[in-house]
Amino acid sequence: MSDKMLVHRELFDEVMVPNYSPSKVIPVKGKGSRIWDQQNNQYIDFAGGIAVNCLGHCHPKLVQALTEQGQKLWHLSNTMTNEPALRLAKKMTDATFADKVYYANSGGEANEAALKLARRWALDNYGEEKTHIIAFKQGFHGRTFFTVSVGGQPAYSDGFGPKPGDIYHAEYNNLDSVKALISDKTCAVVLEPLQGEGGIISPTEEFIKGVKELCNTHNALLVFDEVQTGVGRLGHLYAYMGLGVTPDILTTAKALGGGFPIGAMITTTDIAKHLKIGTHGSTYGGNPLACAVAEAAFDTINNAELLKAVGQKSERFKQALEAINAKHNLFSEIRGKGLLIGAVLTEEYKGRAKELLLFAMDKGLMTLIAGANVIRFAPSLVIPDGDIDAGMKLFEQAVEKFLQS
Ligand SMILES: *Cc1c(COP(=O)(O)O)cnc(C)c1O
Repeated sequence: MSDKMLVHRELFDEVMVPNYSPSKVIPVKGKGSRIWDQQNNQYIDFAGGIAVNCLGHCHPKLVQALTEQGQKLWHLSNTMTNEPALRLAKKMTDATFADKVYYANSGGEANEAALKLARRWALDNYGEEKTHIIAFKQGFHGRTFFTVSVGGQPAYSDGFGPKPGDIYHAEYNNLDSVKALISDKTCAVVLEPLQGEGGIISPTEEFIKGVKELCNTHNALLVFDEVQTGVGRLGHLYAYMGLGVTPDILTTAKALGGGFPIGAMITTTDIAKHLKIGTHGSTYGGNPLACAVAEAAFDTINNAELLKAVGQKSERFKQALEAINAKHNLFSEIRGKGLLIGAVLTEEYKGRAKELLLFAMDKGLMTLIAGANVIRFAPSLVIPDGDIDAGMKLFEQAVEKFLQS
């Protein structure tokens, strides 16, 4: 053991800014879909670091990429480019609609770049009037002031003074609400191709295709925030590939680095050219260490067999949840796609998702919530079937405790 200082959960309240309320558990080690805490208690991980750990914990290929690059070169900043950044960009553009990549360090930053690019594109092509951004209620796009204002939960953007302007919110899956807001002044429509934080809500085909048509009619860019849905999460490399609708700009982060912080905005040459030299930037964006790990994650996930298996694991998850619900009847719906799944509490248990999450944690199972009524599951995309089954046994025990409480 090292001479590192012993720390406890109480220290969090002493030394951390109080914007989070983390679990009492402090994990110290992870392997695949298992995690161990300071007391060596074991957990099954159905949370995946909020849809980040796409290959579980300490996947050998990611550890190898990290340690190899860690001995070569960590950081240069953007006065120089580097090999991992170029290789990853080549692979991302080969695998998607996009021709160009801008690197960031997080989802919020990738979205910030997308929004700034949309405004620049509109200014250059159509002049100063085309500034409106349409986003959706319950949408989530990050915590920078621009992205949180585009997000559809005023509670997150209120209380910080004047907000960036010309942002309007329509209702997800309600095409008429988009029609009512869109005009030739709209520069971009921004949406998640499955609302994650907002409660695991899939778009209807009519809605997503209709939004694309409205964007075409009004010369507005369609921006897909795939920060949560991207990199295999929904069983396609990117969710747009399963929807038959191609965006003009796409943002990706969370699973992109498999646990190492990185984000990216990708787009076409014609749109990208409006972010000219000096218009935007980031010190760390495209950092070789981050890109080396992300390249290894991308290579592993961009694989037909792995993506097909995500669909099978999704079915296994949903069937297990349906079976639990058939016995205990506490969910009104099991929804979602791929390995982004939501179990919605019935009216009777409304607002109590966090309580159920805490019972699961007590049983040794890590889950997430998406709002007050939905338990969310975003496990590793390569979680072994045995861990799904074992985790679901724990979840059923947690449900029983919850119902007795
Ligand atoms: C998590 C998330 C973000 C924010 O990403 P950060 O890395 O926390 O900045 C943005 N958009 C969506 C859809 C997300 O799920």
